[in-house]
Amino acid sequence: MTHTRREFLASSAAAIGAITFLPYAARADGHSSDVFPSKAGDVKVHPVSHASFVMETPMGTIYNDPVGDAAAYSSLPKADLVLITHQHGDHFNLDTLNAIVTDNTKLITNPTVFEKLPAAMQAKASKIGNGENAEFNGLKIEAIPAYNLAADKQKFHPKGRDNGYVLNFDGLKTYISGDTEDIPEMRALEGIDLAFVCMNLPFTMDVKAAASAVAEFKPKYVYPYHYRGRDNGTQDPAEFAKLVGDAAAVKMGKWYG
Ligand SMILES: [Zn+2]
Repeated sequence: MTHTRREFLASSAAAIGAITFLPYAARADGHSSDVFPSKAGDVKVHPVSHASFVMETPMGTIYNDPVGDAAAYSSLPKADLVLITHQHGDHFNLDTLNAIVTDNTKLITNPTVFEKLPAAMQAKASKIGNGENAEFNGLKIEAIPAYNLAADKQKFHPKGRDNGYVLNFDGLKTYISGDTEDIPEMRALEGIDLAFVCMNLPFTMDVKAAASAVAEFKPKYVYPYHYRGRDNGTQDPAEFAKLVGDAAAVKMGKWYG
């Protein structure tokens, strides 16, 4: 009897079904993934690279900041929604968008990215700024500020321009930080179940600031992501996990190579 890899994974999962691990990890089609339950159904997270990831959700497949070679997305379901936090090249790339956006894809972006979209893509897009909301298939999406605090870093992410996002899945409120330091708006988040928190220098923050913020808003699960930096600014996700301690369950994704 032969099995495809997918069937093998499914039957293995069934075989260990008596033991419940949530979230559970699976590997298929070259992407590792984790599955998190929401009241409407499972949300499956596929880290792709750096700030780019894909979430299969009950409301559709959501691509966050998809950049890079479109081949990295070819084994994943097509995008129903693309979220873009800001215009930097590690978050927004028109070639990637041209390759992955289908007739049925919608986009939600910050206002700066919206202005950079060609007309045909603007027609599929909504722009929301800090503090504004959008809805996608019944999912409420809030734009959260994302910015640098230090005066000498305003050139990277000035306050008011870029977005983080909160996705209000019932039972799995999800926060995507975008590029930011440990701003008060992050520390004040409430009821977050799943968080993606950036950390790299000089552009965002170090592991200490990221862990300190996480200890304050206490998501159930947190992925360190966007942690390679410049000039020795790369942050160590293992060190982050140590600093977070039991304030949150730290999820490691295969973000680089
Ligand atoms: Zn970035």
